[in-house]
Amino acid sequence: MIEKKRKEEKRIKDEDLFKVVDSTLDSRTYYVLFQISRRLNIKNYYGAISSGKEAKVYPALTKDGKWYAVKIYYVSTAASKRALERYTLGDPRFEGIKISNTLQLIEVWAKKEFKNLKRLWNAGVRVPEPILVVKNVLVMQFIGENGIRAPLLKELPREEVTEELYKEVINQIELMVNKAELVHGDLSEYNIMVFDGLPYIIDVSQAVDIDHPNALDLLIRDINNINEFFKDNSVEVMDVDKILSTLKIKRVDKNDVHNSSG
Ligand code: ATP
Ligand code: MN
Repeated sequence: MIEKKRKEEKRIKDEDLFKVVDSTLDSRTYYVLFQISRRLNIKNYYGAISSGKEAKVYPALTKDGKWYAVKIYYVSTAASKRALERYTLGDPRFEGIKISNTLQLIEVWAKKEFKNLKRLWNAGVRVPEPILVVKNVLVMQFIGENGIRAPLLKELPREEVTEELYKEVINQIELMVNKAELVHGDLSEYNIMVFDGLPYIIDVSQAVDIDHPNALDLLIRDINNINEFFKDNSVEVMDVDKILSTLKIKRVDKNDVHNSSG
């Protein structure tokens, strides 16, 4: 009788832990969240901050009052499978990983984002500090205060979109390429958060090594996105070529390739 009551209490306790998380999560993910709560002393998971196509981010609060951001990868569409294959192909860090099923695939995405975050963090790029990754769940530093996330660059009031901020963003791109040797690959006003006036680079699962065959094209697209956004907000921006000239990435001269092959 007492044993039964204890089990019942435990069940209710576990429900408490998750009660504000949405009910669409599968039981396997719930179990991972439960394991993580033990490791990190998490008291509560709160409702999703975002609902993207492939991941959701939830705030979590520890018993000591520390906040984390918990990113859960939950869906894998055919398009995302193709994207993963495209980005991991030619990346030596992911050689030998078999992408045989959807479950494995989302775990590879989570792991890849964690590795990229770690590499960026170690190089001094302003990214959320990576804490841990278990299966399809990644835990990182929470960017914001009291469980309220900081705004995205996109959401910033116009008067806060300044030249100083632009220079800070360019500085982060420089650190990413020259120190971490990674190209973000999906950089825009939607994947930069601004906290205390400083830009934080997020969403790095698709980042590629500077030696990746598409690295230069992706980098140019990233820089163009950033330049377009700041230009639209009346900030004077630098020439793409000028920015590229400070970056240690191989600039394949198409004429050279042509000449040497002929
Ligand atoms: P979406 O399609 O919704 O953008 P996504 O797969 O692109 O999802 P992210 O961009 O990494 O995932 O995160 C989604 C959102 O969650 C971000 O736009 C931001 O609002 C919030 N977020 C991400 N990381 C953090 C963090 N470390 N701290 C606080 N909020 C975060
Ligand atoms: Mn995003």
